[in-house]
Amino acid sequence: MNREQAVDFIKDQLEAYLKRKGIYTGEPFACLSPDHQDTDPSMIYDQALRKVHCFVCKANYDIFDLIGIDYNLNNPTEVLEKAYELYRIKLQKMEMERPGSKYMGAKAGEPPKDYTDYIREAHARVGETDYFQKRGLSQSTIERFLLGYEPAFTTRDSTGLRIWRAGIIPTGKFTYTVRNMDPHALKTERIRKRGGSSPIFNPQALQSGKPVFIVEGEMDALSLVEVGAEATALASPANTEPFIEHIKKHPPNGGLILSLDNDATGQETTAKLAQELKTLDISFFQVNISEPYNDPNEALTEDREAFARTVQEALDALGNQEEEQQEMSCEEYQ
Ligand SMILES: [Zn+2]
Repeated sequence: MNREQAVDFIKDQLEAYLKRKGIYTGEPFACLSPDHQDTDPSMIYDQALRKVHCFVCKANYDIFDLIGIDYNLNNPTEVLEKAYELYRIKLQKMEMERPGSKYMGAKAGEPPKDYTDYIREAHARVGETDYFQKRGLSQSTIERFLLGYEPAFTTRDSTGLRIWRAGIIPTGKFTYTVRNMDPHALKTERIRKRGGSSPIFNPQALQSGKPVFIVEGEMDALSLVEVGAEATALASPANTEPFIEHIKKHPPNGGLILSLDNDATGQETTAKLAQELKTLDISFFQVNISEPYNDPNEALTEDREAFARTVQEALDALGNQEEEQQEMSCEEYQ
């Protein structure tokens, strides 16, 4: 193995490196920058770039940066030597163990696991829990999205193995989101993803011919569907670009309403989306439908009628805006 191959191999170890630090990469985690006291997990793992990125302080690290931080090394040669030591790499000898390999998920080239049967089984058990009803969702929403129940979901956190009673939200054939039903669970112990990073949730809505709310999480989208609207969830801030690519290929045919969370990550994502949509000349409307609550699901469960009214007002406002635009373009021809 030459130096270039070694560097490439080590960069591939980032996810395993994070897992060994007790970090689960399927959801945002506390920023690893020593200069950022991150109280609201703002850092994500980007598999494609082999980096972690913080949406608040903009820290952007590969595994070598993290080794430098963790072992307090500033000199690139020292960092590289430490990495060789950690991954037992001896240059030119092809002698190498892979301590991280058992942590690595599906190997490249392996087909993704099809969860269709599991999703059906979990959905068949959904009557054994009132979790989704407590979240304000009715039977028709539960049926439409095949929501399910898992009485013993096994997962790992920094303290070891855990068993959750969990709600299952299918996000495609190959992926699903797991929500811990324990209301006292820590913020980092509430959600897991299976089958890799989350795809965009309910993108079919964009072709429904109806206005579509763009929200952050799957539960936000389900809450909007519950009051009669259509919604698509980005599911992860990392999906902003894939979302834009998606609508370039499949332009929405019913109008868009951006309703992301009102925190720093949500604002940054909204700004990015707004800019891209303007470039694409796709009109959109921007509205906070959750106020005074934190997110659409909280708004739904705390005051369903007020939430339904706010959503309807947003839809009416979008309709009026479109009428005005049509009138204006008619006047231009007179
Ligand atoms: Zn940060």
